[in-house]
Amino acid sequence: MAGILIVGDLAAGRPGSEFLELAGAGAALAQATGEPLIGALIARDNAAVRQDCLPPVQRLYLIRDSELRHYGAAAFVAAARSALGASSPSIALFAHTLETRDWVPQLAAALDAGLVMDCVALSLDGDALIATKPVYGGSVWGEFAIRGTLRLATLRPGVFTPATPSDKPEVMQLTVEHIAVNAVTMIDEVAAAASGGVNLKNAKVVVSGGRGVGGAKNWHYIEGAASALRAAVGCSRPVADSGWVSSAYTVGLSGSSVTPDLYIAVGISGAVQHLAGISAARTVVAINSDADAEIFARADLGVVGDYKEVLPAFVKRIEQLKS
Ligand SMILES: Cc1cc2nc3c(=O)[nH]c(=O)nc-3n(C[C@H](O)[C@H](O)[C@H](O)COP(=O)(O)OP(=O)(O)OC[C@H]3O[C@@H](n4cnc5c(N)ncnc54)[C@H](O)[C@@H]3O)c2cc1C
Repeated sequence: MAGILIVGDLAAGRPGSEFLELAGAGAALAQATGEPLIGALIARDNAAVRQDCLPPVQRLYLIRDSELRHYGAAAFVAAARSALGASSPSIALFAHTLETRDWVPQLAAALDAGLVMDCVALSLDGDALIATKPVYGGSVWGEFAIRGTLRLATLRPGVFTPATPSDKPEVMQLTVEHIAVNAVTMIDEVAAAASGGVNLKNAKVVVSGGRGVGGAKNWHYIEGAASALRAAVGCSRPVADSGWVSSAYTVGLSGSSVTPDLYIAVGISGAVQHLAGISAARTVVAINSDADAEIFARADLGVVGDYKEVLPAFVKRIEQLKS
């Protein structure tokens, strides 16, 4: 029985937000092929599944094993193989994360299946799954045809439209046969330092600063604006590379893809690698002193000027309009 399988994680009873995005992408393929959409969740703890945040899949496999509590490639490959064995899909989709970057290629190699990673679009052409992804540092979109009885892809988070949760999928427990004991033993887990602000990936408003901000000493302009607008802070890669802020704030090809209603780019030139992270932003406002900056081609609204004058005035005006 063929199907479109989506594989994700379950923690505290909830799948990650990327799982609904996989369901959105998977549903389009299921509709095009006439195959059922099937889900598999790898549980990271013992919490019961919250039915109200599950995607509209026909069947959902829940895989729980003490070896899956902490990440280990061998155990995750074994878990995914059980889900693949139970559903015999023609296509399997995963979110593109630090962990899947490690274990999904191992799964593909073990199954001798074609895999394309970090996809931003999927379509079908006959028996080929066409996967689109940025190549050459994001300056070109590459299209790859994956053929075979099993085709695998990891999808970039924040790009595909999420499915609406459904409260009625049939949940089936799946045990992992011959689960491999991970070669690496987890000794301790240390939570990353809290950013203190809004979660970048899910933020509705993002204020992002680039090299044009001029140094860590000026970063308070970005944080002040973000705080006034209840926005998340983002940055371009040189800002993180220079150590002004943590690389967790980077937006773009080597950072996060964001999906805000409003993205304010301050002192950012608009390199393709940065634009790759804001393709799903609804409205982009750019503040840049160079009228020829590339960012203005992507921006819906732009102001040419020194951000030190423009940004505080812009924030003040928004606050006036809100009150
Ligand atoms: C493989 C690869 C991956 C990459 N991944 C990423 C990524 O994920 N994210 C990313 O951002 N980059 C990434 N880059 C880097 C990217 O190519 C650009 O170098 C980078 O985005 C430029 O950052 P920037 O716009 O802040 O700086 P710049 O290009 O230096 O632009 C600074 C801008 O600030 C403006 N400015 C200067 N002073 C002021 C002022 N007072 N007021 C207003 N505007 C001012 C300037 O006019 C200029 O447009 C990647 C590159 C490679 C090769």
